[in-house]
Amino acid sequence: MKIAMVGSGYVGLVSGACFADFGHDVVCIDKDQSKIDRLHDGIMPIYEPGLDALVENNVRAGRLSFTTSLAEAIADASAIFIAVGTPSRRGDGHADLTFVHAVAREVGENLSGDAVIVTKSTVPVGTGDEVERIIGETGTSHRFSVVSNPEFLREGAAIGDFKRPDRIVIGAEDDFGRDIMREVYRPLFLNESPILFTSRRTSELIKYAANAFLATKITFINEMADLCEKVGANVQDVARGIGMDNRIGPKFLHAGPGYGGSCFPKDTLALLKTAEDYDSPTRIVEAVVKTNDSRKRAMGRKVLEALGGAEAARGRKVALLGLTFKPNTDDMRDSPSIAIAQTLSDAGVELAAFDPEGMELARPLMPEVTMCADPYEAITGADATVIVTEWDAFRALDLKRVRELANAPVLVDLRNIYHPEDVRAAGFAYTSVGRL
Ligand code: NAD
Repeated sequence: MKIAMVGSGYVGLVSGACFADFGHDVVCIDKDQSKIDRLHDGIMPIYEPGLDALVENNVRAGRLSFTTSLAEAIADASAIFIAVGTPSRRGDGHADLTFVHAVAREVGENLSGDAVIVTKSTVPVGTGDEVERIIGETGTSHRFSVVSNPEFLREGAAIGDFKRPDRIVIGAEDDFGRDIMREVYRPLFLNESPILFTSRRTSELIKYAANAFLATKITFINEMADLCEKVGANVQDVARGIGMDNRIGPKFLHAGPGYGGSCFPKDTLALLKTAEDYDSPTRIVEAVVKTNDSRKRAMGRKVLEALGGAEAARGRKVALLGLTFKPNTDDMRDSPSIAIAQTLSDAGVELAAFDPEGMELARPLMPEVTMCADPYEAITGADATVIVTEWDAFRALDLKRVRELANAPVLVDLRNIYHPEDVRAAGFAYTSVGRL
């Protein structure tokens, strides 16, 4: 089957490469010429473990190619996926559908055969109807069906998630759409990945409901962490204790500096906007968004406290280990590190940082931070070292070396990756999240 993937970012490129690996004939399209040039040279525009090899193998096998020309790429394609960005619209928090609508129009104007147009981007309820209207408006004479197929992959584990998904959700309004989608995902049927067919609007809402629920889980355990600190309990044990209950489950119960990334912040906000538009308030999600927002700066204040308070912190140096919103990605969108760095810099703290993959994208977002070649360079002369992202590289720091290089043995572990007794035994003043 021929598939066109419009948008070759985290989702489009991973999905396109995986579909090619299933045996489909895939063309990935992007309007960013430099991205396509780099892909032609075998250079990945994003960091995602295993992606370079997957792309290389499928390009070599002749199943995967890249272009900036949508018209050429969609010719003969049975399925045309839209995987462009849907960021928060400036000012009001609604999902910005400019890119999705532009692609819909371009697809409609260039359809050269019957096709299913599949929205993989995360889009508010009703977007499929609008995409259908826009394509219809172009006057195309070809049969088309607009389907919703939200993506649930996680950056950093994207290929595994795509190839072995917990479920595939397909929102289709007719048999043409459903049949083509069955064909697209046939290799996964064989793997027995559960597939859920719903209406298009239901499918669109499932994606937002899933992200809002996960964001709620994280925010809930973060609040429990704060309470643990006050009452002298251990949040990791609380998480374990509740997570062993199958109705709750152990995942997404890691206390930390608050959720970030390219999805949860914008999707929770967009859900609030949809709820508002339909006069059906979602108070729980409202509270989650607010609580998470204030948490990021609160983590900055936690570091100031570890330095002896805001007064004492002025002019001191802090090393930030990890900047991306989670490990194994270079994605800096809405990372908690941005607000933490800002809070510290506002308090007159000098900042040095190291991140294995995120520094290039982080640099313009935090110009006040000196980027370093490795964690130890960042730690040199630091009055406090802060673990912001739990990259493996930070899980086994040479604590003796850290003590020697740092100006003061102060470790703030915002991801709870160390055992308090070990770090304290190594002579550190140690602060973590929700544990004494
Ligand atoms: P991204 O910004 O990494 O990629 C989007 C790409 O689309 C960019 O390369 C951009 O140049 C391209 N593009 C924009 N307009 C175009 C056009 N008219 N023609 C061709 N290309 C165009 O975004 P992403 O992280 O891949 O997210 C894409 C969508 O998937 C979003 O709706 C997002 O919410 C959703 N999603 C993302 C993730 C994730 O982990 N990143 C997971 C699930 C769902």
